[in-house]
Amino acid sequence: MTALTDCSVYASLERVTSALPRTADAVVVGGGTVGAWCAWFLREAGLADVVLLERGTLGSGASSRAAGMVRAQGGTEVAVRLGLFSRDFYASQPERLGLDSGFVAQGYFMPCFSEREVTEARDRIAMQQALGLDVRWVGSDELDDLNPAMGRGLTLGGSYAPGDGYVDPPRNVLAYTAALVTSGVRLRERTSFEGLLRSGDRVTGVLTSAGEIATDRVVLTGGPTLAAVGRAAGARIPAGGARHQVVVTGPHPDLAPDRLPMVFDVASGIYWRPEEGGVLWGMSNPDERPGEATEFDWAYYASMRRRMAMLVPSTAGLGLRKAWAATIDFTPDHLPILGPLITADGPVTGVTVAAAGGHGMMWGPGVARVAADLAVADATDVVDVSDLGLDRFDEHGRSRLAPDPIALPFPETVGPETAGLEPAGPGTATAQTASPETAG
Ligand SMILES: Cc1cc2nc3c(=O)[nH]c(=O)nc-3n(C[C@H](O)[C@H](O)[C@H](O)COP(=O)(O)OP(=O)(O)OC[C@H]3O[C@@H](n4cnc5c(N)ncnc54)[C@H](O)[C@@H]3O)c2cc1C
Repeated sequence: MTALTDCSVYASLERVTSALPRTADAVVVGGGTVGAWCAWFLREAGLADVVLLERGTLGSGASSRAAGMVRAQGGTEVAVRLGLFSRDFYASQPERLGLDSGFVAQGYFMPCFSEREVTEARDRIAMQQALGLDVRWVGSDELDDLNPAMGRGLTLGGSYAPGDGYVDPPRNVLAYTAALVTSGVRLRERTSFEGLLRSGDRVTGVLTSAGEIATDRVVLTGGPTLAAVGRAAGARIPAGGARHQVVVTGPHPDLAPDRLPMVFDVASGIYWRPEEGGVLWGMSNPDERPGEATEFDWAYYASMRRRMAMLVPSTAGLGLRKAWAATIDFTPDHLPILGPLITADGPVTGVTVAAAGGHGMMWGPGVARVAADLAVADATDVVDVSDLGLDRFDEHGRSRLAPDPIALPFPETVGPETAGLEPAGPGTATAQTASPETAG
């Protein structure tokens, strides 16, 4: 019934190929983690007839290609609340759904390398603790003791959240596929959203590549191609895509999971977690121009590998088991977008936009739940959304909010390349090449 590969999950289910419904209580665009969990939350909220439109196949965007890092140690109140919601959701899946996203509470460090970082970390910890996160400051010796795979004496200490962890992204696609089918969401794969049907400022339906569906509720997602979804809906959504790279080393006894808590080195944009007896680590190039990832950048990997070998010495001589580049979604302020669609004529009643801004594993279920709440009740108790709508951006896509201080080094502008980024077909968003090194 379902075939699972390293980077994509393709589902072939009877409901997926069923005839296009003529009406729906809600239509969700995009079968990534945000759209899929949103459709499931809409069913949970009591909507009888929810349709999910996916241009390719479920998980064929960023969601199956992620590293899976799940961190509630966010840099803003919104980030912490979305992270906590999502972490709790993942932890509840075995009991609630039977099939889970593979969440492991591995514990997560954010080390500091300068006095400025120490001050910022201490302020952040106070903010996070006030919101109920189990997080604390650890001094450099304790950090080294709890993190034996990391080089000793490198840091001034850091923050540590024992409940942060990781999911297995392909398994998350499998989990939401199963949840969608068992909850009765009507799935339409290989069906593109092509526009909105409106009566004045109110939505009355959607136009798809297979015909029209009448509805008064629409949720728009699209990950790295959300801007193109917005254009189809007649709006400018300042969201983009950029190359992001992940590698998995060969195994090494020093990298056993009980020796390898997760770490995010914010200064270099490197993060890591255990995987298959080795380490999975990811990197974003701050000088990367927005656009679709078409190939792995081995030169950038080589430069970051030196820093990784300094941070985790046993990676120095290790070959790679896997390496991939894929297009990651971002927003100019690296914060989520959650609010009504706004066109040149003003907001469109009944249409909600949802984007995780490159944090869809750590925030995805929270973003999905907020979008479902807004679609059903125009209100949510998960986070304060008053600053998260499209009205925070000017006509150039610049946000009036300061960027999330704890994010990958994403671009802060949506360039013309991104504005033209079209939704990719299944598999085309990933550049996966054989490593020139000896496989580990
Ligand atoms: C290499 C990599 C590593 C990452 N690591 C992490 C991590 O460790 N932690 C973390 O929190 N986040 C991580 N991310 C980011 C995370 O994967 C994304 O934020 C998340 O997957 C976005 O989910 P989404 O549902 O919004 O988008 P997507 O998963 O991209 O889904 C959007 C879907 O919309 C569909 N679509 C587009 N246009 C249309 C249309 N017109 N009609 C119908 N369907 C359409 C697409 O085909 C796609 O399936 C990573 C991303 C990458 C690429």
